[in-house]
Amino acid sequence: MPELPEMEAWRRALNDPVSAFPIEQAGPAHIATLKTFDPPLSALEGRRLAGAERRAKRLLFPTEDGELVLLVHLMSAGRLRYLRAGDKEPKTPAFRLRFEGGGQLVLTEGGPKKRAGVWLLSPEAAAAELEHLGPEALGLGPERLGEILASEPRRLHSLLRDQRIVAGIGRAWANEILHTAGLSPFAPARGLTPGQVRTLAGSIDSELERGLELRERGAKDAQVYRVHNKLGEPCHVCGTPIARVDFEEHTIYYCPDCQTGGRVLKDRRLSRLLR
Ligand SMILES: [Zn+2]
Repeated sequence: MPELPEMEAWRRALNDPVSAFPIEQAGPAHIATLKTFDPPLSALEGRRLAGAERRAKRLLFPTEDGELVLLVHLMSAGRLRYLRAGDKEPKTPAFRLRFEGGGQLVLTEGGPKKRAGVWLLSPEAAAAELEHLGPEALGLGPERLGEILASEPRRLHSLLRDQRIVAGIGRAWANEILHTAGLSPFAPARGLTPGQVRTLAGSIDSELERGLELRERGAKDAQVYRVHNKLGEPCHVCGTPIARVDFEEHTIYYCPDCQTGGRVLKDRRLSRLLR
């Protein structure tokens, strides 16, 4: 699933093209993709978008007149692209906006399941839709992070991924951040020393910024991630093979030498079953 660095890179790439021309035609949209019916998509026609904004893993396209907001959540498999006039078009986009001048904003989703969503909302309804989200992960800082960690009796990896607590980090960047911070994914959030909180806050920023910079240059997963999905490959810091552990519904990748003092983490799902 695209996370903060991926979404922010897309936002930056889309900001200028989507605001260059008024919308000529809004839709069609796949019935499972469009989550709202009032106002109708056609309410966008003739209006110009102000640009692209981002909140957590969602993209927002407010109209220049301030009356409507198009909200897009790509989930795991959705992809949003701007096509110039004459570019090859996907046969069955899940959603499309056509601009005067021939450019198009196109959402496609691989696989049979349509999980990505598009909402057309008033600014108030869009704000309500985003209300449950925690503060943006990038730029959180040690003080705010310390308060968040102290308030949640959770394990670090699970806490960092919870959008209601910190917005923008998913399982891939949680793996990268905790590796850079040298912290166990299973460490209790409340047990960190002030020094570890500062290190973690620094790692959140440095890793998300590293990801954003690479994604803006078009880097693929294999070049961006150093721990996530790297089972058995040497840790880029110490050379120890990267390990994997299942926790809740997720697979976590980590370096046993850099993060857990040499300990191999037990699969929590399995140990629960055997108890
Ligand atoms: Zn290591």
